[in-house]
Amino acid sequence: MPQQYVLVLNCGSSSLKFAIIDAQSGKETLSGLAECLGLENASLTYKLNGNKHTVSLAQNAQHAQAISLLVQLINDNKLSDQLIAVGHRVVHGGEQFTGSVIINEEVISAITKVSALAPLHNPANLVGIEAATKAFGTLPQIAVFDTAFHQTMPSKAYLYALPYALYKEHSVRRYGFHGTSHYFVSGQAAEVLQKPIEDINLISAHLGNGCSVTAIKGGKSVDTSMGITPLEGLVMGTRSGDVDPGLFSFLSNLGYSAKKIDNLLNKESGLLGLSQLSNDCRTIEEQYEKQNPQAILALNVFCYRLAKYIASYTVPLGKLDAIIFTGGIGENSNLIREKVLNLLTIFGLSVDNDKNLKARFGKSGIITNNNSGPIALVIPTNEEWVIAQDSAQLVKEVK
Ligand code: AMP
Repeated sequence: MPQQYVLVLNCGSSSLKFAIIDAQSGKETLSGLAECLGLENASLTYKLNGNKHTVSLAQNAQHAQAISLLVQLINDNKLSDQLIAVGHRVVHGGEQFTGSVIINEEVISAITKVSALAPLHNPANLVGIEAATKAFGTLPQIAVFDTAFHQTMPSKAYLYALPYALYKEHSVRRYGFHGTSHYFVSGQAAEVLQKPIEDINLISAHLGNGCSVTAIKGGKSVDTSMGITPLEGLVMGTRSGDVDPGLFSFLSNLGYSAKKIDNLLNKESGLLGLSQLSNDCRTIEEQYEKQNPQAILALNVFCYRLAKYIASYTVPLGKLDAIIFTGGIGENSNLIREKVLNLLTIFGLSVDNDKNLKARFGKSGIITNNNSGPIALVIPTNEEWVIAQDSAQLVKEVK
């Protein structure tokens, strides 16, 4: 059988992450990132057969130009004949999408409709869909939603205690994000535990620039920390996570506009706001080791909030088999994992320092001591692989 490749696209407001993935083996043939789109120094970096290349794009180049260059790369390297679909990461699917779908006019209008709930993400995803449809007109385009995995949450988990009309008329509720990642790592955890996913209960912590934690019962999301937008919940790189909603009127009385408050909570808070150093966890950890008090404070708040969330998710689960760490921080920071697990000794968790140190830089593994209680695991996420598999499956179903 000839190779079947899926082009996976993940569009941010000024970036485009892409990968061409073999739908059978998961091997990436071509992958890369276009950055600073719409800005002076737009560029595209790609890896082909293990070699890295960087190309400068025209000043203010947009997603369409980055996609043109990608098309050229695909054609020059004779990859187009094997392409069977383009899979798009779409951040917000509202309540309508409980799984991945082939994109048509109706799907585009539904994604547009919920754009107000993810103004930083959905419009960029739509730009990517439009540009890819123009460039790869004959290929099926698939949407894979961050929110879809969380559509199994019960109403007691997804409803805010607000006037019910806000939910009925304006869809105000918890949606949750990072669903593709939580789904992927939960499947991997079942393999490590050597049990059917239906029989195990997991808490998965996706800790990257954005951070979220999810309670997964028998393979289904039953609660998650991000809300109507990706701002709620854990402390993140630049996002505050949970704050008292009373803060809004307090800040507006100080003269802050809604836009300024939004910017403060999304872009100036989290690890960056607390540490006053950086949103990059590596920088904060370096300073933590040097006893910088702001770095210590930032990591303490980060770990305490995360441990509290993990503890609270034992409520919907009843019994807990494993805690999973993933995302750039979860996969690499042995320090944060140790600090969090040390706050959770009530569940019988105890860190194995040696194993914790080894499970970094792409290596997975169990990081707790062998005992009869729950375990903690490090599992590198692979959202692109889920998008490629879903896309290939949908293409197969319509044939
Ligand atoms: P992501 O959004 O998943 O790419 O994760 C980005 C976050 O992972 C940033 O805060 C990085 O500082 C953090 N990160 C990456 N590598 C490491 C590392 N070796 N130690 C600690 N944090 C890391």
